[in-house]
Amino acid sequence: MNRPVRVRYAPSPTGIPHVGNIRTALFNWLFARHSGGSFIVRIEDTDVARRVEGAVEAILDSLRWLGMDWDEGPDVAGAYGPYFQSQRLPLYKEAAQRLVEEGNAYLCYCSTQRLEEMRAEQTRRREPPRYDRRCRPPEERDRLAAEGITPVVRFKTPLQGETVFHDLIRGDIVVDNATLDDFVLLKSDGYPTYHLANVVDDHLMEISHVMRADEWLPSTPRHVLLYRALGYQPPLYAHLPIILGPDRSKLSKRHGATSLMEYREQGYLPEAMLNFLALLGWALDATTEIFSRDDLVRHFSLDRIGKVAAIFDVRKLSWMNGLYIRQLPLDTLVERVMPFLERDLPPSVARPLSREYVARIMPLLQERLKTLAEAAELAEFFFQEELDYHMKLLVGKGMSSEASLKALEKSLEGLRALSTFECEALENLLRPLAEELGLKTGQLFGILRVATTGRTAAPPLFQTMEVLGYKRCVRRIEAAIARLKQT
Ligand code: GLU
Repeated sequence: MNRPVRVRYAPSPTGIPHVGNIRTALFNWLFARHSGGSFIVRIEDTDVARRVEGAVEAILDSLRWLGMDWDEGPDVAGAYGPYFQSQRLPLYKEAAQRLVEEGNAYLCYCSTQRLEEMRAEQTRRREPPRYDRRCRPPEERDRLAAEGITPVVRFKTPLQGETVFHDLIRGDIVVDNATLDDFVLLKSDGYPTYHLANVVDDHLMEISHVMRADEWLPSTPRHVLLYRALGYQPPLYAHLPIILGPDRSKLSKRHGATSLMEYREQGYLPEAMLNFLALLGWALDATTEIFSRDDLVRHFSLDRIGKVAAIFDVRKLSWMNGLYIRQLPLDTLVERVMPFLERDLPPSVARPLSREYVARIMPLLQERLKTLAEAAELAEFFFQEELDYHMKLLVGKGMSSEASLKALEKSLEGLRALSTFECEALENLLRPLAEELGLKTGQLFGILRVATTGRTAAPPLFQTMEVLGYKRCVRRIEAAIARLKQT
């Protein structure tokens, strides 16, 4: 039976979303958009103790930043709501009750203390920790019920046989039921566990495909058993490959930021991030790497998702980001870089910055930027009143300070006499001047670069001087001359 495509991203608001979470969201979103289906965001907030303030907003912001819209979910009305599990508790209770009534689940009165002791003992004996099913026989239960403990509801996992399901990425999966324990469905606080809520909601929300990270694969046989017990048809499963660092260890801070929003703060473009994330486990072919959002929607398909671990290499992301930055029209680049400059330039630089000035600077930097946040450092000298550099830098390679002083004085003289302060005029003045002074162009330009920018490496000199403008250049060269004279 072919159901309409309805997929969901079901984050738990237990922290700031990391790149792996958002990759899951993206694959679901791409699949929905590719197949004309629905993309649903469902907040799985039933783990009260682990809920983190602000996490839901951070999750939604991450999606919005990458331009992933949702058809149903928080802030969007939908026919299957509410989309916060904490607002759906009666539905889970009802399902749990039905499972108990039909003999597929039972009330368990074991105290936390008993469970802890049991687990400690199992660990000591090097056995996998699991519930020993003490409350499964009715006699035990009745005896314990009298003790006034609030029970949990546990699933009656078949003691024999196998659970078989198909994963669209990994193929057929067979699990020995003896390896599964009687897992909890409803906790004593009345909240469902992930397993129960997830299955009930995927069913009620008519989810067609469950696409989620590999780490959930061990939960899937439990879900399949639950679907069966509830008489529901399970969705199709696709477990996405794990994401590792370039050293093939679990992705962590060592490999770069792990939270998506940190990448935004660092000046990665959403379109580059989207492109990069899409390639974490999916590929169109062996060579194509650059995909616009529309390309991705057009080409995305489940059969091109790999089984092998995806490698998160931040150097590749930076390369890709640089490429996207270079492709930006100047206007857009200026628009996007402004907030970074406002944020990162030293406080001594007067705000607000002139947009027009920034628009003249950016063509000089565009080629070199890997992230927008690098702009402030590279552009700082365009904005500073006083340059801060070591005097020694003013003395040209293989030159005396007298010769360097003379070079600066002669340059200043020439600059003052110019009628226009444009690149070409500067070049026509300064190249012959080097020769006149008996200097290599590199020597003269090096001194002028330091005097006007405070740096030994900067964008091409004449263009830089043109953007800095006559006044700033003259003022800076005068200051350099004064400093050289002091020594
Ligand atoms: N709430 C789970 C998570 O945080 C959802 C897993 C699933 O998609 O079933 O990832």
